[in-house]
Amino acid sequence: MSLYSTIDRFVLMPIGDKLMRRNISGAYKGLLKTEFCLEAELKELQNNKLKNLLRHCYTSVPYYRRVFDERHITPDDIKSREDLYKLPILTKKDVREHFDELISGDINKRKYLNGSTGGSTGTPMRFLEDISSWNILRGLNFRGWSWAGFNVGEKLFTLGGNSLVSKNHKVSPFSAKALYDRFIMRNLKRDCTDITDPALMLHYKAMMKFRPTAIRGYASSLFFLARYLEQNHLPVPKVKAVFTTGEKLHSEYRLKIESVFNAKVFDGYGAADGGVSAHECAIHDGLHIAEEQCIVEIADNAGNVLPDGETGNILTTDLSNYVFPFIRYKVGDLAYIKKELCSCGRKHRLLGDIIGREGRAIYNKQGRPFSSIVIDNMMFKDLDIHSSQTQRLYEKMERFQIRQDKFGDLTILIKPVDPSDSEASFGYVLDNFRSFFPDSRVVLKIVDDIPTLPSGKEDYCVSDYNPA
Ligand SMILES: [Zn+2]
Repeated sequence: MSLYSTIDRFVLMPIGDKLMRRNISGAYKGLLKTEFCLEAELKELQNNKLKNLLRHCYTSVPYYRRVFDERHITPDDIKSREDLYKLPILTKKDVREHFDELISGDINKRKYLNGSTGGSTGTPMRFLEDISSWNILRGLNFRGWSWAGFNVGEKLFTLGGNSLVSKNHKVSPFSAKALYDRFIMRNLKRDCTDITDPALMLHYKAMMKFRPTAIRGYASSLFFLARYLEQNHLPVPKVKAVFTTGEKLHSEYRLKIESVFNAKVFDGYGAADGGVSAHECAIHDGLHIAEEQCIVEIADNAGNVLPDGETGNILTTDLSNYVFPFIRYKVGDLAYIKKELCSCGRKHRLLGDIIGREGRAIYNKQGRPFSSIVIDNMMFKDLDIHSSQTQRLYEKMERFQIRQDKFGDLTILIKPVDPSDSEASFGYVLDNFRSFFPDSRVVLKIVDDIPTLPSGKEDYCVSDYNPA
């Protein structure tokens, strides 16, 4: 580990945490202690955290008190993840309908952030993120990245959308947040909404000037960047690893990124709603579920828990979110849990092939591609996802879907929460899309329902257009 890394991890990061009222350093330290726990130890740790969370839910969270009472059970009836089936699945619809009831009665004593999700699933939803959960998810990133040889204090270049690159325009380059990102997280973040050649050149120049130790971003954005560098015979920075996240890492993405950057890709999976997190280790045979932070179950559409090896809906229980508990939350992706543990020695179960958040692109008539994952960047252009203004906009849509026909024109389908909302209520969406698709016919339609694809997947981006 370099001198800067050592100073950052043991001095700068703890100071930064104090100033920012965060505790990533503490969370990371704790996670390093449990990294190589025996299976039984990990299970005990998980069971204890689950027990404490359920007790809290029973005493302080009206929604869960009601759920327990209706089922004539108490927290004592649930001792481990095998007992969790006694509680119902929590859907995004449930969260929207019972938002106030899901807030812990002792919220005033706790620290939290406002969160929104939806742009990458088609079902907008707001929630509250307990700062403890936030800390652990960041600590887990550092732990996962360490498996690729990347240390705290080394430089990370990030190319991503809303979930990775905040759009908070109020942040000045000399604010505590900006200085924290620059000198402690050492993370240079670039917005990937624009991935045309001129924009890719700007991203590239920024990356070369920054000289990162590792690169992070949405799988499709990094694929487009790698392809651009290859086509233009541009030299690439020497990096230890490339971290992908946010959407499905197709094998052709992995191959292209690895060959161009001459480094291994380490995939990650995570969602702040549900507090789920999983990272690939150097064996590259699945993603280790962060058992200390979340309980992952796989269930069929009827809600039955499936055995390991079978693909179904990911249900996640966030063991640290006491402010707004997510228990058995259907996050919207599908996967399976591997039957075997990893040969690396870590006893955290492996998540196999994750289906959902398919990275694909829609194109404007100038041939400019937009990854489907940045649809919310387009929809809520220039808005900070943590602001209450954006959250109110999110809340107006129950679901949406973007359809591109074979001529390149766009139809935006919106199922509003309030049936009396008309097209005019979503004029900002239409205006934003029109600015990205200048010569396309862009139409917005209010619908009663969004069609599900034959595969059963609730897809939010459908395209028949291929300009090539
Ligand atoms: Zn492993």
